[in-house]
This record gives sequence, C-alpha cells and structure tokens, in this order.
Amino acid sequence: MKLIDSHAHVHDSKFDKDRDEVIQRAVESGVSQIITVGTNEETSLQAIELAKKYDNIFVTVGLHPLHLFECSECGEEEQIFEEFDYKKYLQLASNGNVVAIGEVGLDYHHFGTNDDVEKIKEKQNKVLIKFIKICNEVNKPIVIHCWDGYDELLEILGSNIVEKRGVIHSYIGSWKNAQKFTTLGYKIGLNGIATYGESYDKLIRNIDLEDLLIETDAPYLPPRPLPRENRCEPKDVKLVAEKIADVKNMNVDDVAKQITKNIKELFDI
Ligand SMILES: [Zn+2]
Repeated sequence: MKLIDSHAHVHDSKFDKDRDEVIQRAVESGVSQIITVGTNEETSLQAIELAKKYDNIFVTVGLHPLHLFECSECGEEEQIFEEFDYKKYLQLASNGNVVAIGEVGLDYHHFGTNDDVEKIKEKQNKVLIKFIKICNEVNKPIVIHCWDGYDELLEILGSNIVEKRGVIHSYIGSWKNAQKFTTLGYKIGLNGIATYGESYDKLIRNIDLEDLLIETDAPYLPPRPLPRENRCEPKDVKLVAEKIADVKNMNVDDVAKQITKNIKELFDI
C-alpha cells in the first residue's frame, strides 16, 4: 500500500533526536512522501531546510491564526506572537520546495476571558484573505486550519477564490458543512481525530473518496489504537486510511490508492 502523509510537522523539535529514523520508518511502511507544515516564520524556514535534505519531503509555509495575537489560552509551545508580513510570506511561498500555503486560517476556539474577541477575529479574517492573495500570486493551494469558525470560513472562501483550492485540514466540523466546502472545490483532511470515536463516521460514510485527504498532524493527534499521550509519526497515517476503509466498507488498498491520487493532484507532487 502506498500512502502520503499530507500534513505533518516532521521539522518539530519532538523529532530532533530521531528525525532520520522517523522518515526512514515512514518510507519502509509505504508512506513514500510527507508534507511538512510550517506554522510561523521560524518553523516554515525549518521545514524548507528539511526539504532540501530529503527528496520525499515537501513543504507548506504559513502563519497559524493562534500566532496572530498573544494567546492567553494556548499551551506554552503555542504562545508565539508574530506580526504578519506580506512580503516575507510571499517570498517564503515562492520557494521551490513549497507546495502550498499554510497552515493559515481561523481559530475562534482559544479565546481568554480578557481577549478582545471581535478584534482578534477581524485580524484573523484579514490575514487569511491576504494569504489567499499570496496563494494566487504563486499559484499554489491553501492548507487551512479552522476551529470554531466554519461558517465564517465558508463566507471568506466563497468570496475570495483560491485558484488552486486546497484542504480544510484536521476537519472537525459537520457533514453538512463538509458538503459546502467540497462544493466550493475544497478537500477535507482527516487525521487521528476521526479514529477517536464515531463522531465522523457519518461524514466518512457519505463523502466521496475523491474529496478526502489523510494526514497525521504528527507529532500530535495519534490515531487509535496508539496511546493518546505519545507522539505519532507519518507512518501512522495508515491507521487513518484503515478507519476510512472500515467505515466505508471498502478495501484499504483502494482507499489508499484514491487518496494518494487526490494528494498528488492537489499539491502537484
Ligand atoms: Zn498541523
């Protein structure tokens, strides 16, 4: 079975001790390509450096919406504040190893009681629209992070067209909204979250395989039956493919084949 992990963070410091082995293990288990995703300037640059070293690693560059403000509700690692700079990200996006722009998007979930919610939302929306401009300037798709903002996201994507479209990664919305995203031409990205219970079974059962991507978001979100407290790695994307095959009552090889095709086409790899 040939698979691609369409969204991981292999440049993350949690892989500093054994990154080569992690990438090797992925290849040995059939995960031939990995897309490693930047979340701010520093991690985007780290991702680009990693892609220079490995032919099977591709990169996305972006600024995560949680880094656009001083996030009081974020974990220590997420507490990075960076001012968005159009020129800087346009330059990063133009790099030859970069296959998409992201992760960028909306995160209306991590608000503290003292946060100026409206102001932060407005900033996230504005920056997302600027990233859409960058996508169209460099002719690359978008990788979207969205938590608690699917209605606003649908509005933004409906009126700001990304020519190459993209993926709503780590999708945790309803089947109803998923249909709206796929109608706009976007793919739905599923990861370990889809394996934690039956919440996404309805979506998995109903969605066309052509509209799905799979990912790990490694080192986060280990798919079942891996222990939740451990990190996961790109080879574990197989467990997400197995969950989809199980719910759709399909052969896992057929699932893997179609989804790998979807990923290759979207990111042109
Ligand atoms: Zn991610």
